[in-house]
Amino acid sequence: MSRFWGNLYLAYRALAARPLKRLLRGEGGIERFYENYGPEGLIPTTAQDRAMLTAAGRCIACGLCDAFDGNLSRMDRSVYDGASLLPRQWARTSVDLPHARRALSRLRPAELEEAQYVCPTGVPLVELAHWLSQRARRVPAP
Ligand code: SF4
Repeated sequence: MSRFWGNLYLAYRALAARPLKRLLRGEGGIERFYENYGPEGLIPTTAQDRAMLTAAGRCIACGLCDAFDGNLSRMDRSVYDGASLLPRQWARTSVDLPHARRALSRLRPAELEEAQYVCPTGVPLVELAHWLSQRARRVPAP
């Protein structure tokens, strides 16, 4: 019998309470997501994000790309520490991206291509840099 009341309560929540609440609030889930998590630098994950995160996950942290990344000699080490930062740090969370914007905007794709060429697991560093720049723009300013 308690199962019946449990199901009845769930049906009431799904068919009456939630739609009514949504109607009265006048906002969708995305707005509430940004309201709750935007200040922390978190953004919703898109299909492209998922694909790029999978690609970044191939990194085995060997550091080989850093040795062939010409961007490293053009920027201060406090701003940019090599191509391996892209999959190992900046791809992992959107929270750090506001701090990475300056370095991402100064990366030269041609230099990254060389680093990408030597990567033993085929991490697409050029594509990753482009995606991270776009993703950084989606993070609300702190
Ligand atoms: S060379 Fe490839 S696997 Fe090695 S650290 Fe760079 S991105 Fe990761």
